[in-house]
Amino acid sequence: MHNSVKNLLNIQDKIKNKSNATPIIIAVSKTFEAKEIIPLLDFGHQHFGENKVQECMKKWPELKNRYKDTNLHMIGKLQTNKVKDCLKYFNYIHSVDSKKLAKKIYDEQIKQNKKIKIFIQINIGNEDQKSGIKVSELDELLFYCETLKLNVIGLMCIPPISSDTKKYFRIMRELKEKYNQKNLSMGMSSDYMDAVEYSSNFLRIGTSIFGERS
Ligand SMILES: *Cc1c(COP(=O)(O)O)cnc(C)c1O
Repeated sequence: MHNSVKNLLNIQDKIKNKSNATPIIIAVSKTFEAKEIIPLLDFGHQHFGENKVQECMKKWPELKNRYKDTNLHMIGKLQTNKVKDCLKYFNYIHSVDSKKLAKKIYDEQIKQNKKIKIFIQINIGNEDQKSGIKVSELDELLFYCETLKLNVIGLMCIPPISSDTKKYFRIMRELKEKYNQKNLSMGMSSDYMDAVEYSSNFLRIGTSIFGERS
């Protein structure tokens, strides 16, 4: 059995008894080549994450053609000029963080006659270098997306490193409840067990599945 498959099974085992509904594990394959992704596809894994539209376009069209049930998740910063291609290949966007981007997705969805699943990204630690909206802007952006009838399915965050991660996960869970959202996208290699404890149901895991990125 390939290492990545072993790692995935190990993660599934660890979270099994931690949550009621089984979270979806997004295998974050950014920087890894097709040959390193194929063992997981052959195993039947269906959710993968990329953070760059261009990288996705290089490796995924062929793979998606062979493994038709694959769901691709855009988890990185999305520029409006990449929305068109993003909608062609991805099934989910986790990083919607402005009205401008929401409007662009709306326009492009009409052109392509498609609807993509969307998470609103929240800059939960108010960090300058991170994307995402402030908590105080959530109300307005959700309302705007609703008027455009976008398919918003939840909230996403990347909490500050090396701090009290659980505190941020707790706030995210409160926001999810307050705004009646169905899903939370949070938890990476270093903190997915904590995320599961706070009801995250979309885990974005790279290193713990594929190994260190070079
Ligand atoms: C790279 C990345 C991940 C995965 O990180 P790991 O620490 O390798 O598990 C998750 N979310 C986002 C937004 C990423 O860019």
